[in-house]
Amino acid sequence: MSDSILYSIKNLTVEYETRAGIVRAVDGVSLDIRRGEILGLVGESGCGKSTLGKALMRLHDGPASITGGELLFNGTDLMKLSLSEMPKVRGAEIGMVFQDPMTSLNPVQSIMDHLTETILAHESHLSRGAARERAEELVERLGIRRERLKEYPHQLSGGMRQRVMISLALALRAKLVIADEPTTSLDVIVEAKFLDLLKELQQEFGLTILLITHNIGVVAEVCDRVAVMYAAKMAEVGTAFDVFADPKHPYTQGLLKSVPNIETAKEDLYKMGGEPPSLLHPPLGCRFHPRCPFAMEICSIKEPDFRPVGEEQLVSCWLYEKEGIDESLLAKAVNNG
Ligand code: SF4
Repeated sequence: MSDSILYSIKNLTVEYETRAGIVRAVDGVSLDIRRGEILGLVGESGCGKSTLGKALMRLHDGPASITGGELLFNGTDLMKLSLSEMPKVRGAEIGMVFQDPMTSLNPVQSIMDHLTETILAHESHLSRGAARERAEELVERLGIRRERLKEYPHQLSGGMRQRVMISLALALRAKLVIADEPTTSLDVIVEAKFLDLLKELQQEFGLTILLITHNIGVVAEVCDRVAVMYAAKMAEVGTAFDVFADPKHPYTQGLLKSVPNIETAKEDLYKMGGEPPSLLHPPLGCRFHPRCPFAMEICSIKEPDFRPVGEEQLVSCWLYEKEGIDESLLAKAVNNG
């Protein structure tokens, strides 16, 4: 594994057991997270991006389990660790920020106590005073006055709670922060400030951030690279510049065309037809074929490989396969992007 890669996810599969059968919420996904980058993971709700985020920490919801793949984090295969070893990795190595940090903060513990206890749990050599000092310095760096630390989670705004979670990751010197829909509950101004803060922290602390969001506009603001998921599979990965300037996958093209902007009247916005498929009975071949304006015969029969289409871009689409390629459709797709 190259030194520039902090986390290499290989062929990861996560399944849920439901009454109706097995749902494969993440299906053979491979992805590299590079040191010091902000990587945006986007896709419609239900595409598996949050399940993937939790799987990276081996945290699962209810009956989900990882049924295949490797999780190579900073040289260690996390799948080879026992579950009792994982809490040391969570928090200390990989920090988490969820949409609603109330679920991660103890409602009957002051913010100061929460931060101090967590720091001491991971760094027992520190004195309580040193842990308090570290907590105070970091929350101040993140724009929260230290007096507020004596308050309880419900007394802080949503934006402040997000910042407390990030300060905790920084206090523990986490190498990776996974932020799952961190700005969904924030208003536009607080969201913009939060995204600026992420960028500053990335630059100041060399933090690596996986930003999971359904909002491709958020990705455009701060991300260095983008990974687009569709129906439990990876559709496209590339630098933000390449993906926004020249999206290859028809799904990415549709996502980008449906983002509101000041030049397009609301009624003229592109609407992607159809609905994402059921993961209980996903379509054969390319999962996007029932909605894809460029679908060819092969698309409903065989799944395309996930392969490079440029120096830094990978895509899973038959349009870019050398053999059997339909040049006229490719030309249309290229113009469409
Ligand atoms: Fe569309 Fe076929 Fe490409 Fe799938 S493989 S995105 S159906 S052209």
